[in-house]
Parts: sequence; C-alpha cells; structure tokens
Amino acid sequence: MLNVCILGATGSIGLNTLDVIQRHPSRYQVHSLTAFDKYQELFALCERFQPRYAVLVDDSAAEQLAQKIKLAGLPVEVLSGVNALEIVAAHKDVDVVMAAIVGAAGLQANLSAAREGKKVLLANKESLVMSGELFMKEVEQHGAVLLPIDSEHNAIYQCLPMGYRCGDTVKDIRRIMLTASGGPFRGYSSEQIAGVTVEQACKHPNWSMGQKISVDSASLMNKGLELIEACWLFNVKPEQIDVHVHPESIIHSMVEYQDGSVLAQMGNPDMRTPIAYGLAWPERIDSGVPSLDLFALGQLSFERPAHANFPCLGLAKSAFNLGGTACATLNAANEVAVDAFLKGNIPFNKIPDIISRVLGSAPVLPVASINDVTNADQLARLLANEEVLKISSSDHVRAV
Ligand code: NAD
Ligand code: MG
Repeated sequence: MLNVCILGATGSIGLNTLDVIQRHPSRYQVHSLTAFDKYQELFALCERFQPRYAVLVDDSAAEQLAQKIKLAGLPVEVLSGVNALEIVAAHKDVDVVMAAIVGAAGLQANLSAAREGKKVLLANKESLVMSGELFMKEVEQHGAVLLPIDSEHNAIYQCLPMGYRCGDTVKDIRRIMLTASGGPFRGYSSEQIAGVTVEQACKHPNWSMGQKISVDSASLMNKGLELIEACWLFNVKPEQIDVHVHPESIIHSMVEYQDGSVLAQMGNPDMRTPIAYGLAWPERIDSGVPSLDLFALGQLSFERPAHANFPCLGLAKSAFNLGGTACATLNAANEVAVDAFLKGNIPFNKIPDIISRVLGSAPVLPVASINDVTNADQLARLLANEEVLKISSSDHVRAV
C-alpha cells in the first residue's frame, strides 16, 4: 500500500489522479490533499478519501474547512499556509507526491519532496522551468525518483530504454520529436488572434485542463515551457528537440535514435494514462481510459509550428539559451500576463509582448541557490505588472 500526497488536489490533474487511485483501493491510500482556497471542494474530497491531512494555503478557507470536518466527525487534520504544503510533501509516511499545483507556487513543496527522496510525479512543469538545474541536482543527491506526468514527457520517458533515470544522458538519441496540438487558434491569422476571447482560449480542442495551461496551450507557451522541461528531464539541448504540430493529439511524443528508429507513445488524449503510468511505475495498471480506435480516427497529421503568429515558443527557446535566471523570468512574466488576460485586462496577443519586454529588461544572473530563482521571479512579476498596467490603461483596451 503506497501513501500518496496530492498537491493541487482540486485541480484537473489532482482530480484525475484521484480517479485513478479510486480504481485501485488495495494499492494506494490518500495521505494528504492540498488546494489553495476551495474549501467546499476539498471538503467533498475529504469525505470521499478520508486523508490524514487536508491543506489549504488560505488561512480563512482552512478555518471553514476545519469547522466542516469537525461537524462531519471526519478523522482529517486541517493545516494551513504555504509551509503546510512542504510539511505534507516531505512527511515521513508519504511514498508518492503528485506535484500538481499550477505555476511557481508549486516550487518549494516539490523541492521538499525531492529532498526527502520521494517518488515525485511531476505535472507542475513551471517549477522545473524556473529552477531546472537546482531541481535536478536535488533529485539526484537525495535519490528521489522523478517521473514526468506531462503527457509529452511521459511519452518520451516511455520511449527511452528501461531503467532510464531522468537527468541521465541517452547517448544514442538523434532527436526528440515533441508533439503539440496547436491549440484552439491553430491556423489563425494575426488579426484573428488579436480578437480572441478568454472563453475561446480556454476551450482546448482535445484536452480538458485548468485555465492557465489552456491559455498557455493557445499561445504555444505551453510548448515552450515543455521544451525547457524536456531539456532538463532528458539532458538534451533545444536543438535536439523538434516540435511537431499534431492536431489529433494521439501521438504524445517520439524519440528518434541514431539508427533511424522512431519510437512513439500513443493513446487517447486523457491524462489518466500518464498518471496511472507514474503511480504504478514500473508496472502498469488500469487507468479507466478507453481503447484507442485508429479506424474511427482514420489518419494522423503533422505540420510545422507557425512561429510568426505564436512567438512564445521562440521566446522560451531564447530564455533557455540565455541560461541563469532567464527561464524564471520568462515563467513569471508569462504567469502575470496570462492572469491579466484571464481577468480581461489585456488582449491575448499582448502576452508575448509582455514576456519579450520583461526578458529584455530583467538582468540574467547566475543561479547558485533557490533564492536567486525566487528573486528573479519577483522582479519579473513587478516588471510584467508594469507592462500590464501600461497596456490596460491604453485606449485600445478601453475600447474593447
Ligand atoms: P488547475 O488550475 O486545474 O489546478 C491547480 C491546483 O493548484 C488546484 O488544486 C489549486 O487549488 C492549486 N493551486 C493554485 N494556486 C495555488 C497556490 N498559490 N498555492 C497552492 N496551491 C495552488 O491546474 P491543472 O490543469 O491541474 O494543472 C496543474 C499543473 O499540471 C500545471 O503546472 C500544469 O501545467 C500541469 N499539467 C496539467 C495538465 C492537464 O491536463 N491539466 C497536463 C500537463 C501538465
Ligand atoms: Mg503537455
């Protein structure tokens, strides 16, 4: 029986993880569930899974949850605050940590899990983008087992030789073929992209996901973050990664070897497959995902990314090549810009402009400790907020 801590339990990945766990009650026990402030949703999960700990970052939401749990007579201890995330992720009884908080907020808890040598199922790509070198060092030093949950990276991992450990070099690789759906605005002109709404951006053609990653998928920043993620996980350079737009999202990524062999991992676009893979690794378990029907699908297609209309992918590549704090800057500027778009404060096509300006003005400093990363993150947020303010107070947005 493995004890599982789910960071970000109320989110899309968190709920899919609980769906898989519920199918295997003799293998997995929910040790702890965390969320930001949605106490009613977390309470419902506490009733269903009776974890030992429930964590809410927001203090007043945690008080509400504690009251409800007391009234219901559930044997669940409620913790609150940011530090509580680290407490449960590093808890001695936890075997597996599902890292599924969205954004930079997941960084410290993920690092704590790695330092305690846990099996870390990494969905939260932003933490690796921000602190790739440090994170991979912690994993290696403390003997943590890092398994990628992002569907593309999970696919690549599955196409690598058995026994491969993330961070190791695979010498006989020619390239990684990272697939991308192209998002809801694939084929749009720059004029069309300028007028898209939040609702359109959040409606991904193939995947059902949280709002932030949906917007990232629409701007192709998700692919940019994933390119950086792949560089750290598989110890490759950006030049070894070819992004293939594959609108059907059936091939989740491929690895090409020196002899010309290309291995692909395929399946229906459903995150329960990589989640089940991570939970059961090195075994396989039922995930609840239906069989792939290639006859119904008919064909699989591929195209090159449209860099001119989707500059975020190129921005991510440049940030990785700049090194040091540049990826933390990129990530923070993107988080601020996406949040501003979701709140209706900037148009969609200003997201890459803001990131580009912030990357141009923030210094690129070496990363010796996690403080260097968090300082760069904070500075980039300040700069990005200034850019948002400039845009949102301009006539253009007022007219919209
Ligand atoms: P989501 O928005 O649905 O859920 C996010 C979770 O994080 C929620 O439980 C929320 O309470 C928690 N959270 C948000 N802000 C927080 C904060 N400041 N402190 C603590 N907790 C906080 O997001 P999601 O779609 O489940 O994505 C989670 C992560 O997984 C992201 O990094 C995303 O890029 C990655 N990912 C998601 C998918 C997917 O299919 N959804 C696929 C690949 C990778
Ligand atoms: Mg992905």
